[in-house]
Amino acid sequence: MSRYALFGRSVAKSPSPQIHAAFARQAGIAMEYVGLDVEPGALPAALDAFAARGGRGANVTVPHKQAAFAACTRLSARARTAGAVNTLRLEEGQWYGDNTDGAGLVRDLTGRHSLDLRGRRALLLGAGGAARGVAPALLEAGVRELVIVNRSPERADALADALGEPGRAHTRYWEDLAGIGDFELVINATSAGRDAGAPLSLPFALCNDMTGAVDLNYGEVAIPFLAWARAAGLRTIVDGLGMLVEQAAESFEIWHGVRPDTDPVYALLREGAPEPATA
Ligand code: NDP
Repeated sequence: MSRYALFGRSVAKSPSPQIHAAFARQAGIAMEYVGLDVEPGALPAALDAFAARGGRGANVTVPHKQAAFAACTRLSARARTAGAVNTLRLEEGQWYGDNTDGAGLVRDLTGRHSLDLRGRRALLLGAGGAARGVAPALLEAGVRELVIVNRSPERADALADALGEPGRAHTRYWEDLAGIGDFELVINATSAGRDAGAPLSLPFALCNDMTGAVDLNYGEVAIPFLAWARAAGLRTIVDGLGMLVEQAAESFEIWHGVRPDTDPVYALLREGAPEPATA
């Protein structure tokens, strides 16, 4: 029985153990996958302890993806560009890090939702670990322009610098959102819905007739952003459930060399989390 885990904050409700159990059943692989709560700053020690208990690989979620990057001795090219790691594999006693978030998002949008990302002007809200994972993949998928806006502007600037394509990927201030034009794609990569505080307040001026709204979050956390997209009258509204399944499939392949069939697992999870209604 090989051992895997998800490290994050408040991971008790995460569907990831259910997803990986379903993939393992499909592939006929005996594996354990559990969620483990870790406080900020405690990830390196938690990874060491897990490896000592026989852990072979891990996923990392909010807020540890940049700490996971620092904990790895070897990195994939996409993890290096992102500066964030969501998938770790133990290799000769050391952690190898990859980032499957971007591939997961693009596969969900272009495959399951048949969205053509090429030529789109896209707004990325957030510059944390998830935004750092998806930004390079969005550029690779052909978005024309990527405008990054984050509550703390220095994190947005650092992400734009890491992307290294100043002509295509650049930043604006959150306070200026009402005046930065409209977008064919608005992506919420913030964790704002997790806070007890005020929900995101976004201007409808960001939208045009073509705009698709994508929330990396799903379930209750996604409600405020998806409600905003419905109120704006958008026709394409996507939550993060499909991305969750697709990024997990990428991780599973990194660990086991087998590509799982994601559709039945997505359908199962969707039963408990209805599709975001479109206008
Ligand atoms: P991080 O903690 O690394 O980053 C959080 C981001 O949200 C930062 O940009 C932060 O801004 C911003 N933020 C937090 N609160 C607010 C607020 N009230 N108003 C505006 N911005 C805010 O988290 P991650 O990037 O790892 O994850 C972000 C979200 O994406 C999470 O909720 C996570 O569950 C989801 N996610 C979903 C995935 C999926 O597969 N569906 C995969 C990965 C993530 P600042 O820098 O100013 O603090």
